[in-house]
Amino acid sequence: MNEKKIDKFAEMIRQSNNIVFFGGAGVSTESGMKDYRSEDGLYNTVKQYNVPPETILSHSFFERYPEIFYDFYYNYFLNTSAQPNRAHYALAELEKSGKLKAVITQNIDGLHQRAGSRNVIELHGTVLKHYCTVCKTVMPNEKVKSFAGKVPKCEKCGHIVRPDVVLYEESLNDRVIKSAVEAICAADMLIIGGTSLAVYPAANFIRYFSGEKIVLINRDATQYDSIASLVFRDSIGEVMSSAVKLI
Ligand SMILES: [Zn+2]
Repeated sequence: MNEKKIDKFAEMIRQSNNIVFFGGAGVSTESGMKDYRSEDGLYNTVKQYNVPPETILSHSFFERYPEIFYDFYYNYFLNTSAQPNRAHYALAELEKSGKLKAVITQNIDGLHQRAGSRNVIELHGTVLKHYCTVCKTVMPNEKVKSFAGKVPKCEKCGHIVRPDVVLYEESLNDRVIKSAVEAICAADMLIIGGTSLAVYPAANFIRYFSGEKIVLINRDATQYDSIASLVFRDSIGEVMSSAVKLI
């Protein structure tokens, strides 16, 4: 990794007072979470259900086959041993220092909160919360986990409990979109990590940024590389922890 670039990154952080981090799957894969499309991702490795993971994680599939949904969801999202990595911890530290105002994430694994981040805007919801599809009563996470992949039923009314996750075919929460847009509009520095920005809604959000400091950390090239002040192709955990150490 290029030390001069890290120095420059750290200097940009020092000069900023309202940093927003926008993250995608690449932030979680360094914790051992599987993404969708890479070689080791869910799409290529999960074959036992005879349907692609995106189909299982869709609204209509959940309604029709909750048993298969929960079996998959428990195995790959709820019952994982994934722990926060250096990127999560560096971001939490940067928030404590007062410089980072928000983490906007497309991930649903809750790893940012576990690392200590407080203002986490979860575009696609979270596996840390579940509620009844009918009476909306919240079921504690430990209780949901105790069903071990069987369909959890509401203790009040007996209907199916669902994760507070935006499934395919469902729209993002308006309130969450608004917080994300407001955070980006107010930012003086934007760090984008672990996402190629190719998929909706990521690219749409970036347009709201009017500052000059954009740092991109992603394994592959993105269409925004040319407008970024700095581009890293390295591990996001390594880049973030190295830069934050210098602050
Ligand atoms: Zn209920």
